[in-house]
Amino acid sequence: MTDTSLKTYGEDVFSEKAMRRHLPKAVADKLMATMREGKPLDPSIADAVAQGMKDWALKSGATHFTHWFQPLTGGTAEKHDAFLEPTGLAQAVQKFSGKNLIGGETDASSFPSGGLRSTFEARGYTAWDPTSPAFIKRHENGATLCIPTAFCSYTGAALDMKTPLLRSIQALTRATERLMRKFGRPKAHVSVTLGAEQEYFLVDRRFYLKRPDLLQTGRTVFGAAPAKHQQLDDHYFGAIRPRVIKFMTDVEDRLWRLGIPAKTRHNEVAPAQFELAPMFEDLNLAVDHNMLVMETLRQTAEANGFVCLLHEKPFEGVNGSGKHCNWSIAYGGKNLLSPGDNPRDNAIFLTFLSAVIRAVDLHADMLRMATAGVGNDHRLGANEAPPAIISMFLGDELSAVMEEIETGRAEKKTGRTAMKIGVDTMPPIPRDTTDRNRTSPFAFTGNKFEFRAPGSSQNCAASQMVLNTIVAESIDAICDKLDALVGGAKPGTKAYTDKFNEELQKLLQRLIRKHRRVLFSGDGYGRDWPKEAAERGLPNLRTTAEAIAPLEDPANIALFAKYGVLTEGEMQSRHEIAADDYASRVLIEGRVALEIARSMIRPVVADEFSRLATAIGQATKDGLKVGVTGLKALSLKLGAGLDDLHVKCERLEKAISAEVPSRIIAAMDDTRKTVDKLEHLVDDSKWPLPKYREMLFIY
Ligand code: ADP
Ligand code: MG
Repeated sequence: MTDTSLKTYGEDVFSEKAMRRHLPKAVADKLMATMREGKPLDPSIADAVAQGMKDWALKSGATHFTHWFQPLTGGTAEKHDAFLEPTGLAQAVQKFSGKNLIGGETDASSFPSGGLRSTFEARGYTAWDPTSPAFIKRHENGATLCIPTAFCSYTGAALDMKTPLLRSIQALTRATERLMRKFGRPKAHVSVTLGAEQEYFLVDRRFYLKRPDLLQTGRTVFGAAPAKHQQLDDHYFGAIRPRVIKFMTDVEDRLWRLGIPAKTRHNEVAPAQFELAPMFEDLNLAVDHNMLVMETLRQTAEANGFVCLLHEKPFEGVNGSGKHCNWSIAYGGKNLLSPGDNPRDNAIFLTFLSAVIRAVDLHADMLRMATAGVGNDHRLGANEAPPAIISMFLGDELSAVMEEIETGRAEKKTGRTAMKIGVDTMPPIPRDTTDRNRTSPFAFTGNKFEFRAPGSSQNCAASQMVLNTIVAESIDAICDKLDALVGGAKPGTKAYTDKFNEELQKLLQRLIRKHRRVLFSGDGYGRDWPKEAAERGLPNLRTTAEAIAPLEDPANIALFAKYGVLTEGEMQSRHEIAADDYASRVLIEGRVALEIARSMIRPVVADEFSRLATAIGQATKDGLKVGVTGLKALSLKLGAGLDDLHVKCERLEKAISAEVPSRIIAAMDDTRKTVDKLEHLVDDSKWPLPKYREMLFIY
């Protein structure tokens, strides 16, 4: 029975409570300051922290510790070391030092480095990220102390997702502080926040084990559409089945122990599809937590006889899975993307909003890049997911405000004069109407932006790192302009404020005019949108191959270097890794499809065909007048299918040998058409693969 009382909430985290219990007061105070304010850690306390952390971990049943990091594989990595130090013959003590805590050295040669790690220097280094607390992972025989770390090469080049994310948070923090100074705000803590909504599928493990494609690629490369799938809209928010709710509560129990605020759970649109949404947290922590959410979903599914599929499109023809990333910035604990109710707050809100509009318009290509991946290619641009075109949705009320600023005219029916920034308050924006457009990849949803393009399996760090950087650049561009325009006036005076407001108004007006093309409230799934988007000059990067190209664009390289987020070498390495990953995954899919088609489907069809041929021969010999027509018709179809399958497999094989991803994908799709047709011709009891109607409905 799982404990759902919240008594165990955060029990497996080296939390403030645990620190206070296990560390001397001065050490705990210093560590808390490091965590809260992101201050550098005082190295002199490392040993004391390690000592306390070890005591806590041992009490929790840990035998080992590991640096836990996020290499460029898309997953997480850990290498366990026992708290063991031999002290003599057959004698040992449990040991863990500050050195063990702060840094680690690991063989990096088997992690993707995209050429960053020279062959003679195989070492990689992990460095403690004290802003994300250590935690404990439990297993049947004990537990492991996990220390979140960044991972880099000997030369300090980032080999992970966390390092550039942390750098981007710094960049956005600095830019935000600069802008807030212009508004005369006292210095306050900036926090970037993320709430990541995780979608996933569950299939019964017994079906999964019979699907080599699911086992090897995470998606079904064959499978005819079932008569009923999601047409009746009867799964979304439906009653949760007992076996699933048992799984979900097991997941929550584990997550709550880890201090992960899993809050919302529900059935999603496709049959057998679900969602878990946590409360938002500080971005860096939320990213770590999402990685743990994915791991926990997978492991708990196994313990419950399920398999959790995090692939973006495990089943053709029904909804795929995304990971909506809800993002905002808070200043001194107050959300800057929440429209304030006084003119001053409104000015700040509208400035940040405009900065995001500018950023998304100028750098849509990098946002798209951050969501690239072989799985997400099946989702973006398919009919139920945001398109690969990155546009922005503001909602009716906010769109009207932006239009007023842009045109300098109020809407006639309101009878007001046009909104003056810094002087007027904004009309109230009802939160419930802001969220209606589900087809937009980047939507303002009341007090945050919801980026919907990221895929369910992706590390949120990728998209968040880009978002932070491009918004930092936009904020800086606005600040530079303001410096030039308001420069003369004396800060703090009324003349300054008036001039500031006036120039800001004009600046935002120009900015909206220039970047309004990225705003789109229409149907993102509509057929006309790609055409209109092309006319507006918005990029439409449909496949991973196209979507990763922006990493090589000199302007992007310069931007990410300027903000110290990724160096030119790091950008290049990420491009290389993404290209390799894409090519490898497509190749694997092609090979799996070919193997299934040839060694599982073809023999069954051939058997069926030969059985029929024998029956027809026998029936004709016996002079039977009935049944032969039916047998012949079926054998003709099966025979044609068999020939067709042969031709398509040959073509797929050639494409695989040529290793050209686009050809492999086309040949796979083509083979699928034949296989899916055959599925309806062959004796159901002989079909070698579990069918969609089984996998999606029997659990
Ligand atoms: P939905 O998008 O399904 O309507 P919600 O409005 O409940 O859902 O929010 C979805 C996610 O957005 C949740 O994870 C929530 O914690 C997160 N969220 C809410 N406010 C913020 C914020 N200021 N910054 C980041 N995420 C937020
Ligand atoms: Mg949402």
